[in-house]
Parts: sequence; C-alpha cells; structure tokens
Amino acid sequence: MLSIFWSYIKKHPYIYGITTLFALLSSALAVVPNYLIQQFIDSMVNQNLTNENLFFYLGIFLAAIVLIYLVDITWVVLLFSQSYRYQNSLRSQLYRRLLQLRTPFYERFRSGDLMTRMTSDIEFLGDTIGYGFMLIVSNITWALSILIIMILTISWKVTLLSVLPLLFFAWFVFKLWKKVDVLYEANRDAVATLSNEVLEVVDGVRVMRAYGKKELEQQQFKKRTSQVLEKANQLVLYNGAVGPIAKLFTGLSMALGLVYSAYLIGQGQMTVGELISFQIYLGMLSGSIWGLSDIVLVYQQGNVSFRKVEEILEADDLVETSGNQPLTGIESISFQDYSFQYPTSDTPTIEKINLEIKQGETLGIVGPTGSGKTTLIRQLLRQYPVNPTGGLAINDQPIQQYHIADLEKLIGYVPQEHILFSKNVAYNIRFGKTQATEQEIHDVVAFADFTKDLNRMTRGLDTLIGEKGVSISGGQKQRIAIARGLIREPELLILDDSLSAVDAKTEQVIIQNIQDIRQGQTTIIITHRLSAVAKAHKVIVMDQGKIAEYGTPEALLAQKGWYYEQHLKQQLEENQHENI
Ligand code: ADP
Repeated sequence: MLSIFWSYIKKHPYIYGITTLFALLSSALAVVPNYLIQQFIDSMVNQNLTNENLFFYLGIFLAAIVLIYLVDITWVVLLFSQSYRYQNSLRSQLYRRLLQLRTPFYERFRSGDLMTRMTSDIEFLGDTIGYGFMLIVSNITWALSILIIMILTISWKVTLLSVLPLLFFAWFVFKLWKKVDVLYEANRDAVATLSNEVLEVVDGVRVMRAYGKKELEQQQFKKRTSQVLEKANQLVLYNGAVGPIAKLFTGLSMALGLVYSAYLIGQGQMTVGELISFQIYLGMLSGSIWGLSDIVLVYQQGNVSFRKVEEILEADDLVETSGNQPLTGIESISFQDYSFQYPTSDTPTIEKINLEIKQGETLGIVGPTGSGKTTLIRQLLRQYPVNPTGGLAINDQPIQQYHIADLEKLIGYVPQEHILFSKNVAYNIRFGKTQATEQEIHDVVAFADFTKDLNRMTRGLDTLIGEKGVSISGGQKQRIAIARGLIREPELLILDDSLSAVDAKTEQVIIQNIQDIRQGQTTIIITHRLSAVAKAHKVIVMDQGKIAEYGTPEALLAQKGWYYEQHLKQQLEENQHENI
C-alpha cells in the first residue's frame, strides 16, 4: 500500500510539497506561545516585567496564534480535498474494472461485499492518504520541533529522561499493530456479510412474507448483527487499551521530568519558568505520540481496505483475453464435439455438442430444465472460458480469435431474468440502441406486443418503472426486454426463455413478428413451449447436456421421442385451458 501511496504522492508534488512545508511551519510556530509564557513567568519571578514587555509578548503571542490558524487551515483543506480526489479516481478505476469483468468473477464475489469495497473501503483508503498523511507529517514535525526546543532552551538531560517512558509507549503501540490488522479485517468482513444480507432481504421481502419467514429472517439477521457487534467489541477493546496506557506513560514521563527539574532548580541550573514550560512541552509531546499511535489504527484500516480493493483491481475473470481479429458479420456458427465444464463444477455440463447454425436460420432449443440449454448459448456470449479442445467456431474460425467487443455488438441477448433499470420505458428500450428514434421505439414496442400496455400507461414511454415508478408484471417486463433486444437489429438474436411469463397466444404473436422482421437474420429461441419453435428451421432437444434429438419440427414429431410427447402434452393442456 505504501508504495502505491508514495507513487500517488509523487504524482502531486505541489499539493503534498506545500502541505508538508506548511505543516513544518505550523509546528515551528506552535512552540512560540509556550516559549513566550516561559519568558513571561521568568520576567515575573525576576521582577523585571514592564508594561512594554507585556504588550510585546502579548502581540507576538496573538500574531503567532493567528498565523498558526491560517497555516493549519490552508494545509488541512489542501490535503483533504486531495484525499477526496483520490477516492474519486479510485472509485472510477474500480467501476471500470467491474464493467470489464465477466460472469465467473461475479459468481465469486457477492453483491454486498462488492458494495462495501466500492464504498467504505474506498473511504478508508481516502482517510489513510488524507488523515493518515496529516497524522504522520504533523505529529513527526510537531514532536521534532518540541524536542529541539526542549533541548535547546531548557535541558537535554531532563528531556532525555522524560522521553524514555514515551519511547516504551511507542514500542507497545507497534506491538499491537499486527493484532489490530486481523481484527479490522474480521470486522470489515462481518459488515460486508451483513450488507449482503440486507440486499437479499430487500430483494426478497415479498417472498419472505408470502412464506411466513419474517421471524426466521429476523433471527438470522440478529445473529449477523451480533457477529458484527462481537467483532467491533474486540476492536474497541484493543483501541480502548491504547488510551489508558498512553496516560500511564505520559504521567510517568511528567513525574520523572518534574523530579529531575526540581533537583536542577535546587542546583540553580533551571528556572521556574523553564520548569513550567517544560511540563507544557511534555504535554504537547505526549499529544503527538498519541497522534502517532492513531496512525497505527488508520494504517491498519487502510491496509485491510487496500487488500480488498486490490483484489478487484487484480481479479481475473478466467475468460481468456480477447482475440484481435475483427468480426463484422456472423455467417455460420459451428460446435464440433464441443464439451464445457463450469469452473466450479467437476463434470461437464454439456458434452460432445455437434451443431451448425447458418445465417438466416432460426434454431429452437428445447429440453427439460437443467439440461444445459442456457449453458450452450453462454458459450457464444463468451461468459466463460471457451473449451479450447472442443471446437466452437464462427465463420470457420475459433471464437476466441475474435475481438470480444465485436462479437458482443453483433449479438442481442434477452436473458431469462429480465433486468430493467429504474428509469422510464423509453430509456430501457433505448438501452439497446442509444440513437433510436421515437418511431423506432414504437415499432419494436408493437413487435413485442406491448402497444396496448403502453397506451394504458398514463405517461406512455416516459412512464417510470421499477423501484420508484409503476410496478409492472413479469410478462410486461419480458416484453420490454424483447423490445430492447429487437431495437438493436442484431445479427444474432438469442431469446433465452424470455417469454415464459406471457400467455401462449401472445407468445405466438411475438414469435411470428420476430420471424417476419428478422428474415435473413439468425435467431436462437430457447423455450419451454414448443409452439414457439414450431416454425423454426431446426430444433434441438437437449437432455443431460447432450443433443438428444435434432431436426425440423416436423421431423422431430415423426421421431416420436421427447419432442413428440411434449408436443402432445402441451396441446392437451392448451385445449383444456381453452375449454375452461
Ligand atoms: P437449462 O437452461 O437447460 O435449464 P442450464 O444450462 O441453466 O440448464 O444448467 C445446466 C446445469 O448446469 C444445471 O445442472 C445447473 O445447475 C448447472 N449450472 C448452471 N449454471 C452454473 C454455474 N454458473 N456454475 C456451475 N453450474 C452451473
């Protein structure tokens, strides 16, 4: 962490240079008032204090205080605004990284943990480079200037003797260093787990209520908060130990100084004014040693946060680096003996897939839940590392050779779990094509069979949806997501069970629209309802990671396998539904 901070400090030489210079100036000026008190007392004791002297001392005293105030305020403002700038740039850097990382990374880190890293960890780092820097510079310069003035204007012998207990205190604080690091990390992790819990509760509060799990959740939450409390208490115990021990050593130091000073006064080697100002200096010195002990805590907090932030900056999403071959169109996609295993899994999820999709074709993918349908299309989206031994090619070249961004531009993906933003309908659809005109939006709204729903919304395309807006049904969400996918007019459109919440008739209307407007373009439809793929060029039936049946819908019916049985079952259900 220190080397990173140091390189940041070197990048802003003026800010940190002026800050250090002003801190030095402030420390040098800080001893002036006390020195004046010493002169003032000695003049009183020696009975040579005149009015002129008094006003002279007072004038310098006041000027020094005003100057210290101005100097302090300048360097503290400079330092802290730089600390906020540091937080800002780090947060942007982290955000950029989060946007680059892909699925395997998000499976390793939980949302609450990531949020803690983006917020409080960055704040702690800002504190370390701001408040921590201030503690180091001001306390070191302060301690040095007090020591120098004590040695020069009072006595080096008394200074040495009184400083000894403070050195012991410094040694004790450094012993605590390692322990505090571990405690901070445990405390921070407990807070991150708690944040995650809160996120999940907020997301799933309706389900919890519906299942009557409120009490259970409350108990679990109580358990988590008491874990945070326990960790915080341990930390407080250590932090709390520093204060009383500091007082003990400071008291010892003052007592030693007092006894030895009294002896020196008896010997005529020290004045009363010197004794009083020596005690004030000691008080100031122990204040700065106190401040230095605070550095240990700020440093440890910063160090733990630094590790957490660095983990993201250096995280690998396990997806191979993008190739550099440009990709402008998808003429063919072919899987040859392709198998894939999730990084966290022991066995392949899809096995020996042989499949060819030509430009302009519509491919239907059906099969039982968990048979590997989504896993198969995830390979095209490059969400996971591609299996290099099995062949997955686009235009007869391995997919890894292409630039990932080029590939992404050509694909429109409408996932199972529709992700809409808490903005208006137009924003959510335009997300697929920023420059889309209002007419284009209305067109895709019509293709997604959403026009009637939109007309019922009082503010039409400007209607806010999501957390702060109107609640919309799952089927409406899915249709907005489809409109978003369509507006891009992608070379390859993938619908991943994205019409599961709309009724069969609406689904058929939408699928028909898609087929009409996407003539000559490639479409992959994953679905549970076979009617959605009845007009597809080819359909595959997945079963336990393998292609169990493959052919045109008519050929599959003729095969009388899973597709045929499922077809009969669904037709029966539909007929029953119509008869009700
Ligand atoms: P389908 O789309 O046919 O319902 P999936 O492709 O989603 O099936 O899942 C196939 C299998 O892979 C399931 O057993 C599922 O548990 C497993 N699986 C899905 N996603 C992951 C993942 N990210 N890590 C490990 N296993 C996964």
